[in-house]
Amino acid sequence: MDLFRKSADQTQHTTEDVVSVFTRKVANRTQWGAFAVVLPLAIVQAYANNWLMAAWLAAFCTYSLTLAVRSRQASLEQTHLLIFVTMLALAATYSTWINGIHGFLWSFPVMASVVFLLKRKLAFVSAFIFYLLISLAALVSMPLDLAWRGILSLGAMVVLTITLLVLLQRMQRNFTDLATTDTLTGVYNRKRLNVELDKILALFKRSQGDVSVMICDIDWFKPLNDKFGHLQGDRLLIQAAATIKQSVRATDSVFRVGGEEFLVILHDTDLSGSVVAAETLRTEFEQKVFKVKGAEASMTLSIGVAQLKQGEHWTDWLERADQRLYQAKDAGRNRVIAD
Ligand code: GH3
Ligand code: MG
Ligand code: MG
Repeated sequence: MDLFRKSADQTQHTTEDVVSVFTRKVANRTQWGAFAVVLPLAIVQAYANNWLMAAWLAAFCTYSLTLAVRSRQASLEQTHLLIFVTMLALAATYSTWINGIHGFLWSFPVMASVVFLLKRKLAFVSAFIFYLLISLAALVSMPLDLAWRGILSLGAMVVLTITLLVLLQRMQRNFTDLATTDTLTGVYNRKRLNVELDKILALFKRSQGDVSVMICDIDWFKPLNDKFGHLQGDRLLIQAAATIKQSVRATDSVFRVGGEEFLVILHDTDLSGSVVAAETLRTEFEQKVFKVKGAEASMTLSIGVAQLKQGEHWTDWLERADQRLYQAKDAGRNRVIAD
């Protein structure tokens, strides 16, 4: 059980964490950058007696500075980022309207910020609206041939940026899957378990729905390993994981938490329901003929079951299930004991 306790104290960084920290840093630098770039522009506009533009840019500078200071510690909400990019987009559009090409040149970094800082759907919609507005301003204020070229090259940049972003998000998902999947059996690994347990606990505090866990350990696996060899032992583990996955509901999550030890989280299931599920799994496992090279093997499971209690941390929840597993072993193996 020390295994579960120890992992609760470790800081686990998933790929998702790494990406969100990176996005926050980029957003933060964009805000500092926007402040540093726009402040001299506001002063220039004030000298040129463009008071409306100067006031707009000054307001934007103040907002950027506030966001930059705030986002140093935590990610900003989407609303703040939406206001930030909307102010940038309106400034670029207005500047194009009155300054022509000199304003339009700013639409490229502004468009990149819109696509990168906002969440996917919001980013697409905002980029589309900004593209329409800036195109209109360009057509009104610039020579027609220059306006068309500008609009087309901005369009090409949007397509490229979005393609790159979608590719990055897909890669991020693949890396997350790789980092949280057990390479031998294809079920989730312990790293994923910690993230999942934290989520379950947070959800349980709010909704109080039933959630149970079963910890399954293959009985006498070492003798099987000794008899058939480690490689065939691995084949048995792959079949064992597949059998467990097939037996439980598609919505339940299966993790490999030790050499021949698996943990299943049963969502929306109380203790009696999870005992039924565990008994079904135990019987199916016992009756299954497992294949090893040139031979067949049978295996059995001992299972400890526990339901999450109000006010309990997940380490205590898993510890209760683990104690029941040890009792099942002591009582002769191939059985289910519930807390
Ligand atoms: P018990 O009924 O008490 O659980 O007996 P057991 O033999 O299953 O328990 P024990 O913990 O003594 O042995 C587990 C064995 O699992 C030890 C090791 O040989 C084997 N094992 C652990 N990880 C792997 C693995 O990745 N591949 C293979 N082939 N075997 C593994
Ligand atoms: Mg075992
Ligand atoms: Mg074991």
